[in-house]
Amino acid sequence: MGTKRLYYDEPALRQFDAQVLSCKPFTATASAPCHAQGAWAATLDQTAFYPTSGGQPNDLGKLGDADVLDVLDEGEEIVHVLDRPIPLGPVRGVIDWPRRFDHMQQHTGQHLLSAILQARFNLPTVSFHLGAAVSTIDLRGPEPDANLLEQAERAANEIIFENRLVAIRCGTAEELARLGVRKQVDRQGVLRAIQIQDVDLQPCGGTHVAATGEIGMLLIRRCAKIRQDWRVEFLCGARAERAARADRAVVRSAAESLKCADDDVSESVKRAAAEREALFKSLRSTTERLAEAEARLALQEIAPAENGTRIVARVLEGVEPVYLAKFATHIAQTAGTVALLARKECGHLAFAQHPSVGKDMSALLKNVLEKLGGKGGGTRDFARGGLSRVEDAQAAVELATSLFKE
Ligand SMILES: [Zn+2]
Repeated sequence: MGTKRLYYDEPALRQFDAQVLSCKPFTATASAPCHAQGAWAATLDQTAFYPTSGGQPNDLGKLGDADVLDVLDEGEEIVHVLDRPIPLGPVRGVIDWPRRFDHMQQHTGQHLLSAILQARFNLPTVSFHLGAAVSTIDLRGPEPDANLLEQAERAANEIIFENRLVAIRCGTAEELARLGVRKQVDRQGVLRAIQIQDVDLQPCGGTHVAATGEIGMLLIRRCAKIRQDWRVEFLCGARAERAARADRAVVRSAAESLKCADDDVSESVKRAAAEREALFKSLRSTTERLAEAEARLALQEIAPAENGTRIVARVLEGVEPVYLAKFATHIAQTAGTVALLARKECGHLAFAQHPSVGKDMSALLKNVLEKLGGKGGGTRDFARGGLSRVEDAQAAVELATSLFKE
């Protein structure tokens, strides 16, 4: 004898009395391959606990003293996975109602949204997932644009505001087809279908609210391409409320950072991004000109060695990261010069030479990094890298200078 499913006829049932028919240590099944060690599995003569199925997650709650960890649909029987054993005989079950009601809101919202997308926009739903954070439906057909989704959202909310009845219908596949079920159903016997008054009739074994007003509100969040289909994310009820509040907090925080009114956030962000772009370009050209001027100055200050080579060996401080390479490049543009540079703040190194110097900067860098630690590489005339220890910047420049002179 199978378990009587009380949630079929009484989806609003929050607690119920039943008889425990069996309770034994839980062993993995196909629908639940693994569970915490020490879990127990109980079956009852009847239950209001909904098992994971049809895209809707299982209920949680209490069965006697035990916490219900999972609920499995094992064909005829419903298996309650518990954290401890319970005695055979009478037991009271209590459903975690906020969780279940949330599932009922999302699930009924899905029926409504899918029905509207099918009837008005010819976009059939090919799959449904009720997630812990968001729910999704996958649509097949041409891409639904923002305007279409907004229309569907508004149509769904109008039906929610009209508080239409959501009824449970039972009948054979043939009888349901006569009532207007579109979906082809192959199962035999008496089937269960959910009817939203004058909107939709769908075969479904899940739990639903009694009237559309209980859905509260439906919000479409985003739409993305998943393989050949379009995945639409939506939220109903308290989830929609929480999302609206979270969005609001984001706008408020952005407005505070931008020092503007909430309504001006979008314009302010655009302006800030344009300004940043302009400043970046300006900084780049200023850095270039500064590097060129300072390179010229540095070469004037340093007298050539006996062999005519001029070495600019420095640890730079308070300059942009990109400045190091630019400065080195400008110095090395003059015949007979070499730049051996480090940046104090990050321990980056840049070694550059005019080809006429005839040494190997890459080999020199490698030598320095072998002794002090770090990573880098380059060509004969230009090499750069980073020290493992930032505080070795001065030592690296001194070492490079002495190795260069060898
Ligand atoms: Zn359903």
